[in-house]
Amino acid sequence: MDFKPIIDTLMRRLYPLNRSLTGEDNRKTLRLIREIIPLNILEYASGTNVYDWTVPDEWNVKDAWIKNSKGKKVVDFKESNLHLVSYSVPIHETMSYKKISKKLFFLEDLPDAIPYRTSYYKKDWGFCIAKSQFDTKFMENEKYEVLIDSSLAPGSMSIGEFLIKGKSEKEILVSSYICHPSMANDSLSGVVLSVCLAKYLYLKRNELQHSYRFVFLPETIGAVAYLFKNEEIMRKIDCGFVITTVGGKGVIGFKSSFDPTHEINGIANSVLSDNVKNYVQYPFDIRGSDERQYSSQQFRINTVSITKDKYYEYSYYHTSLDNLQFVETDSIMETLKIYCQVTDLLDLNIKFKNTSGFGEPMLSKYDLYPHLGGSAKFHNGRELTKIDIILWLLHYCDGNKSLYEISIKMNVPIKILYEVGSELVTKGLLSKSSE
Ligand code: ZN
Repeated sequence: MDFKPIIDTLMRRLYPLNRSLTGEDNRKTLRLIREIIPLNILEYASGTNVYDWTVPDEWNVKDAWIKNSKGKKVVDFKESNLHLVSYSVPIHETMSYKKISKKLFFLEDLPDAIPYRTSYYKKDWGFCIAKSQFDTKFMENEKYEVLIDSSLAPGSMSIGEFLIKGKSEKEILVSSYICHPSMANDSLSGVVLSVCLAKYLYLKRNELQHSYRFVFLPETIGAVAYLFKNEEIMRKIDCGFVITTVGGKGVIGFKSSFDPTHEINGIANSVLSDNVKNYVQYPFDIRGSDERQYSSQQFRINTVSITKDKYYEYSYYHTSLDNLQFVETDSIMETLKIYCQVTDLLDLNIKFKNTSGFGEPMLSKYDLYPHLGGSAKFHNGRELTKIDIILWLLHYCDGNKSLYEISIKMNVPIKILYEVGSELVTKGLLSKSSE
């Protein structure tokens, strides 16, 4: 399937929306995603206590601007939603330069960029502007009329959820966040990639070994609330992905999970080293995105992130220059291909159990031995015949070792072990071990 048109269209349609923790544009975002994948849209009411947090009031914005004394708009939310500090309370007041300048945020080192600021949990307001705009539009002794026509009222927080059922009960989590307004790499590229990955897996759902739980939620409060509402399910999840910042012009990166020995790290690294010349390795860091919630003590879900221009690492991060010129469809495609390959391998990483009884089975009885000959060349030039692989699988598969573990021991790709193992299942010599 060609994902380019989906990426193009979704990026273009989702980019302008004024996403935040809550609000109508978050709902619109989820509805647009639902045109591609059959998403459940969940609403968690404002005021709901979720562990140590409370779902906030819903925030919606009709308009926001600053006018000078001539009535000319010097800052206009309609030109960029980044101009307004997210979760700004309503205000309509005329004020001095001295007062307004305390409410303006800009970046000295990126004079043409509008920074991204939020004030989710402290009732406040503010505007973000380019330094160049501040220098030319704001004068001492001038008076400014400020309007923020926003509402902060009980409503709900919207979360998207999509479960693709595979053969086993084992679930893999795929999480991306929908709380950022008009910025393309952080976090929209991750949302769009997740939608494509969901579509990719959904199209081959009949052959999937594992199940995949996709969530689209506002960062932190969304993840906390989703964990709270789905505690039992989420505690059983062993690993997954937090997908963000996947479409920049720079390097591919890999952030490992809190337990670097977890197999998801090895699997992702093997795909990356086969496909990317130089990629940057980021060890697990408690700063970051929703891995903070998923990795917390009661859940301990090992989540990794494959990035292209990782958050914190590029100069346009959290500014208006992280826009549709910075993020290209081809860049998202490049990262998507890696994610697809990693999930392909993860999906085949199952456990088999030898069910042939005591001793070595008499392979010729199973129509396996006589017809097999020749040899296959694998990785480091070491030659193994198919019969070698069968014997090793019968030796290793005790229901506890994963194919990834065996593939490391044997230096044979998971895919081949899976194919040979599946043939042995049809002969009754192995069974798939349920997890
Ligand atoms: Zn961010």
